[in-house]
Amino acid sequence: MNSPLLSIIEKKGWCVADGAMGSNLFGRGLEAGYPPELWCLERPDEVLWLHAAFLTAGSDVILTNTFGANALRLKLHRSEHRVYEINVAAAKLAKRASEQHALETGKQSYVAGSIGPSGELFEPMGILNHEQAVDCFSVQAEALAEGGVDLLWIETMSANEEVAAAAEAAKKTGLPVCATMTFDTAKRSMMGVTPSDFVRLSETLNLAVMGANCGVGPAELMHSTLELLAAKPAIPVVVKGNCGIPEYVDGAIHYHGSPQLMAQYALHARDAGATVIGGCCGTTPEHIAAMVAALDESSRDVFDGAAMNEALGIPWKHLPVISEEGQGKAGRRSRRRHG
Ligand SMILES: [Zn+2]
Repeated sequence: MNSPLLSIIEKKGWCVADGAMGSNLFGRGLEAGYPPELWCLERPDEVLWLHAAFLTAGSDVILTNTFGANALRLKLHRSEHRVYEINVAAAKLAKRASEQHALETGKQSYVAGSIGPSGELFEPMGILNHEQAVDCFSVQAEALAEGGVDLLWIETMSANEEVAAAAEAAKKTGLPVCATMTFDTAKRSMMGVTPSDFVRLSETLNLAVMGANCGVGPAELMHSTLELLAAKPAIPVVVKGNCGIPEYVDGAIHYHGSPQLMAQYALHARDAGATVIGGCCGTTPEHIAAMVAALDESSRDVFDGAAMNEALGIPWKHLPVISEEGQGKAGRRSRRRHG
């Protein structure tokens, strides 16, 4: 099925997604370790505020606050019985922000239902099998669809099996499906998937949009994206890079990328051929506004790899920061930091 994003891409050549959810909610009082998804029920005004801020900054598509809102992740917070409730509420909040923005500005935007990893490994290394994973993601996907999202957006994935299960669940809703992987481990995903492997998988799964998100910094994200584009996917490619390299400061992870850095990243991503451009962890509405301004004030240019390295830095010089909970238990991979 055609993605609604295609109509925007056909009109202006690219489309802007939003920035981070979790790291922006930390700035509004969310405590480390607390699931941001519960704020859809407990602090809906804050979630609505962030959606509105990204729309005001110029995002054409915003993602729901549901990255970890599947039963396997919510179980860690004894909230696995609230999957349906959280996802419906999250979708309605994002739709409300989008509709309000259209009323105020006349500009149409779209809502994508975020679906993140389950946090479990597949058999034989872990406990999860295909049916269980499809069941887990189906509850979330159906609730997001019922809440009114325009497409489903599977993100920060590292295993082909998990993308396949999430895509199968998402496609049952009849909505277009986007999926992005995180290539943060020696130029591959944590489970060893290369960008070109992922292009072939996206074709097998008949995805509407595909790409890369999160991981290390914008330079590494762009390196993976160039490999995605070299494999010639027939569908729009998304880039959602972190706001600079994650750094530990006083026991917490911080992102120090400037709006100017993210604007440079957006321009190089467009030149390279990515058509859905957003930010991941650490990206604020201010960063998105700078990216939108840079994109709007110029037109697509010939891609210049040397200029990109100069602006973003040489990729893969930094060790990735991927552990959120320290050492993972046996059979469970440590949960990916993303927010
Ligand atoms: Zn992220």
